[in-house]
Amino acid sequence: MQYISTRGSAAALDFEGVTLAGLASDGGLYLPTEWPRFSEAEIAAMAGLPYAELATRVMLPFVEGSLTEDELRTLCRQAYGRFAHDAVTPLVQLDERQWLLELFHGPTLAFKDVALQLLGLLFETFLSRRKSNLTIVGATSGDTGSAAIDAVAGREGVDIFMLHPKGRVSDVQRRQMTTVRAPNVHNIAIDGSFDDAQAMVKRMFGDAQMTSRFNIGAVNSINWARLMAQVVYYFACALQLGAPHRPVAFSVPTGNFGDVFAGYVAAQMGLPVAQLIVATNVNDILHRALSEGDYSAGTVTPTATPSMDIQVSSNFERLLFDVGGRDGAAMADQMRGFEASKAMRLTNAQREGAAALFTSARADQEQVLQALRWAYEHAGEVIDPHTAVGLHAARASQLDAAIPIVTLATAHPAKFPEAVERATGLRPALPARIGDLFAREESYTELTGEYDAVRDFVSQHASPAA
Ligand SMILES: *Cc1c(COP(=O)(O)O)cnc(C)c1O
Repeated sequence: MQYISTRGSAAALDFEGVTLAGLASDGGLYLPTEWPRFSEAEIAAMAGLPYAELATRVMLPFVEGSLTEDELRTLCRQAYGRFAHDAVTPLVQLDERQWLLELFHGPTLAFKDVALQLLGLLFETFLSRRKSNLTIVGATSGDTGSAAIDAVAGREGVDIFMLHPKGRVSDVQRRQMTTVRAPNVHNIAIDGSFDDAQAMVKRMFGDAQMTSRFNIGAVNSINWARLMAQVVYYFACALQLGAPHRPVAFSVPTGNFGDVFAGYVAAQMGLPVAQLIVATNVNDILHRALSEGDYSAGTVTPTATPSMDIQVSSNFERLLFDVGGRDGAAMADQMRGFEASKAMRLTNAQREGAAALFTSARADQEQVLQALRWAYEHAGEVIDPHTAVGLHAARASQLDAAIPIVTLATAHPAKFPEAVERATGLRPALPARIGDLFAREESYTELTGEYDAVRDFVSQHASPAA
């Protein structure tokens, strides 16, 4: 399988190439040249497969030329063997129509584990083939950092340097990062805000002194391999609810548009997806884009759902490219305009193309608490506030009542105990497997907010590219 950039001028790459590249050299995002498609009979034959086997079948067309079926199967078994639930992404029923797909049974209790656990193994496999090293540098305000660290801890050929703003992440979030003990994991607490940390990371990506010696990379959700791994649980879930013979709708708590775009990919591959509901909090750029065609960034309002507090959704470009006729030059123009003015209109083709499958809804703070309370009172399920944004949108849906709606449960409630307690009176406990988090020893380096200090630390501890 070959991959092309949404901005048309970067060279096409194979799966190994796009996994290691992340962003395309022209600033675009990679997509397969065409969508692989399964027949109804092929989908029916996937029913009841163990998760790792299903993952192998669904992802095989995308990795063709870079991994054999057996290699892919081995990686899937290893990645998904680390989940605390044997079904990996179990499905829970809330009422006659509403369902939850629990994506938080991975090592760090976040749905990002599903993709990152596989990505860590893919990096190791491809880097050892090329005999090269990768230096991952990132900044985190909490969640992504721990999932990325866990995914690459102990992996050959990869070093990870994760910056967090000192004293400004929660104790649980900091400990999930700093108690991972592996020689290739480097936690750095800097004096300053998350934005300061992020600015240093950006500066390092553009620092020729660093990029000439090290192969500096990122693990953010613009990486195609992450999206690909997320397609699998749409299949797992829909098969349980009667696919390919019965359509299913999904409500997805959305930030960077990665998770919900994976649902779009599943639909292109032949899965009967009736609708994808893009659920946002009050940071609703995607809701405005899908309902009015107005993609314009404002300022971020902090909410109880921090992983969705964004104003620009990088992966949205993939959808606009695909439904807008796959014209790289036009896409590059449109994105240049957006980068200059922080606003753009969707074209008619983009609006109509998106409307065929997507709808959207926005939840404010009160609606989030109400959805949390409803799940608890009507089904005895304690959910996290991100999931509650999705559930609010699912319950407000106007879709034909015969179609089941599945809300993606993106975080374990114990990651956000305050909001859960406010709505339900119940303080969710950390699951037993990480219950000793506060007894584990922490390790991190404190650095000043000076870029030079961070650069020197990374150059002393990272392995040169090759
Ligand atoms: C990252 C995240 C999201 C948003 O997912 P996207 O793929 O960025 O849309 C939603 N909920 C939680 C808990 C997350 O960590």
